[in-house]
Amino acid sequence: MDSYVKRATGAWGKIIHSEYGHKCAMCGRVAEPYNYNWLEAHHIGGRASLAMKFYTELGILLCTDCHKVRAKAPHIDQTAFLEWLNEEYPAKYNLYTELKYKLVSHHDIDIKQICRDLEERAAYAA
Ligand SMILES: [Zn+2]
Repeated sequence: MDSYVKRATGAWGKIIHSEYGHKCAMCGRVAEPYNYNWLEAHHIGGRASLAMKFYTELGILLCTDCHKVRAKAPHIDQTAFLEWLNEEYPAKYNLYTELKYKLVSHHDIDIKQICRDLEERAAYAA
């Protein structure tokens, strides 16, 4: 089970990086390791819920600053981040609010199937 979660997480991240063209969705920067600024795939619905964790529609690529440092960074001010998301990516915002209160048991998640699907998509992600 855990190894499937790990593999699915890796594939999910690869897809998110590819979908955003390896640029931050908020500021447009590419990774600048010399400035300690990397690109990080953010889980809009958090990582705790397996139900939301592997939706690629609930992923967004942010640079380290926009992810964890700036005023609108989700790890600084979740409310400000969600307001920004609602303006820039309303479909993601709407999906998040739709699934937020939906309780899905981990037993209802077919992690092997999710892993297979994500790895298949990740194989074509560049
Ligand atoms: Zn950024």
